[in-house]
Amino acid sequence: EIDVPADHPRYESLLTRHRIEAGVEQGITSKQGLIAEGRGEAFDYLLGEETTESADAAARAAAAHLLLADHPVLSVNGNVAALVPGEIADLAEAVGAEVEVNLFNRTDERMQAIADHLREHGVTDPKGLTADGRIPGLSHERAKVDADGIGAADVVVVPLEDGDRAEALAAMGKTEIVIDLNPLSRSAQSAAVPIVDNIIRAIPNIARHARELQDVTEAELREIVATFDAEEALRAAEEAIRSGDLE
Ligand code: ATP
Ligand code: MG
Repeated sequence: EIDVPADHPRYESLLTRHRIEAGVEQGITSKQGLIAEGRGEAFDYLLGEETTESADAAARAAAAHLLLADHPVLSVNGNVAALVPGEIADLAEAVGAEVEVNLFNRTDERMQAIADHLREHGVTDPKGLTADGRIPGLSHERAKVDADGIGAADVVVVPLEDGDRAEALAAMGKTEIVIDLNPLSRSAQSAAVPIVDNIIRAIPNIARHARELQDVTEAELREIVATFDAEEALRAAEEAIRSGDLE
């Protein structure tokens, strides 16, 4: 699809950038999504562009939460749709979650384009278009969710969520799993499970853990959830960034 030499040392990063660019061209990703991508790249560079041990443990805790959930929902914005549409479909299947399109800058065109794009990549019946629910404490447009989607969810995965909305969702009592490369962002800090990793690596990693944990007992899943320490995960991520051996 694109012309990046596979032996380029920063292959994955260039591929990611191209996908975001294509997302903007297809009307899936907003221009602000380009800026978010740039921010993410900088943090990923400092992390060595790999999943740390601590981020892997967070992905495992996320998988356990999702398997225990009554009504898990994966929230998808323009960057997520451009980068990992098929991986979202796969994770949804692995944990029995619904997928909801949830945009900071909501337009009908972009909602439709993302829903279509997700369907093309195997997501059945993406939610978000009804918008008959509200997140308390946010202004009208930014508060919109589906009442029977994120509105009714007990566990939500919110990759790259805006800090304000992440806090408001947590205040609703939802167990929030945030994927964000910046451990200092309010989104990561309000999460029950912050995964400080690139969504390109994190989404398939959660799915892999979920399949591995498919047959363990509920008690074991609860044990994984109980022993996960969000503050420690954020501290470890910050430490990895500060002391990284950059190549
Ligand atoms: P705060 O959460 O403190 O309010 P913010 O929400 O204003 O900050 P944004 O720039 O809007 O910050 O959000 C983009 C976030 O998404 C950044 O923290 C960036 O590191 C992260 N990000 C961007 N691309 C990716 C990616 N591919 N994987 C994971 N995280 C990413
Ligand atoms: Mg943020």
